[in-house]
Amino acid sequence: MAAAFLLLVLVLIGAVRNSERLQDRLVTRAVGGQLSAPLPTLGGDNIDIVFCGTGSPMGGAGPRGTAQSCVAVLLGDKFFIVDTGARSADKAAALRLPLQRLDAVLLTHFHSDHIAALGDMHLNSWVRGRPSKLDVYGGPGVDRVVDGFNLAYGQDYTYRTGHHGEDYVPSSKAGLVAKTIRADSVIYDEDGVKITAITVYHPPIEPALAFRFDHQGRSVLISGDTVKDDNLIKAAQNVDVLIHEVIQRDLVDIFVQALRDNGQGNLGKIIEDTHDYHASPVEAAEAANQANADLLVYYHYAPVPQNAIMDRIFMRGVDAVRPQGVLAARDGTHIRLPGNSEIISVEK
Ligand SMILES: [Zn+2]
Ligand SMILES: [Zn+2]
Repeated sequence: MAAAFLLLVLVLIGAVRNSERLQDRLVTRAVGGQLSAPLPTLGGDNIDIVFCGTGSPMGGAGPRGTAQSCVAVLLGDKFFIVDTGARSADKAAALRLPLQRLDAVLLTHFHSDHIAALGDMHLNSWVRGRPSKLDVYGGPGVDRVVDGFNLAYGQDYTYRTGHHGEDYVPSSKAGLVAKTIRADSVIYDEDGVKITAITVYHPPIEPALAFRFDHQGRSVLISGDTVKDDNLIKAAQNVDVLIHEVIQRDLVDIFVQALRDNGQGNLGKIIEDTHDYHASPVEAAEAANQANADLLVYYHYAPVPQNAIMDRIFMRGVDAVRPQGVLAARDGTHIRLPGNSEIISVEK
């Protein structure tokens, strides 16, 4: 029986290796699955939140293939992406987010793990038919980031239009537009969608921002990078979902020691320095309790947990502070808040 099964497997492998027709059919199927149409029903009366990156600069290229910081928020007919860390544009496309209707990118701050894929996000939305240039909101300095990307990618914009034509990649829609915002104020209020920028503590960056979205009686606050912060807690009062960054200091210490043991003390020192401007999972849980947040979600893991043991280490001490539990977001996690309800559904 086992020999017959083995023979069958060998015949199948032989067929795939030798039949071009079979190869084409298998790949056509796989590609069709990957390229199915963008998710059509995100937003509307709901706030839909999809994680297009939950990583930080540390350890993201491990077996889970995590992208750096990126959170998509779709509400009403609006679509915003908060931060565009490395690999996040690929992730957003793979998650079938409707990039052709991306309204704007919001940058919490300009650390590389929050801006690295801005050029790719521009390209991925432009080639899908984004109807205008791409607005990029951020604190003072966002114009320098935008000017830099436009300068670096300017030739690429021209090549694409020159090769594919104005009908498909119009030059009038190419480019990023800087929108400098004032912290601790409402930065967007249109068609029932309100966005507030909140100053958080992430020195030496000033201002580092969190963003709160309100729509149809529902709300979500995205922390950006910060310690446990009183200003954030005040702005997050009674929020439905608090999405908070986390650092696990026991894991960071293990990484730092391993780097020192392997002659990489300089990198070890850089990573050790991250202790003082992020929040631990327990501190984030305390912040959620003080804000009376309904659901606490972790993201922007430092370091990125690459297996179930590291997942458990991240949860050390959290139960005691927040017995109702927390959600540890992964790339692809989708949270839906239907309008004017108390429902919070987690799709993945
Ligand atoms: Zn970061
Ligand atoms: Zn940062």
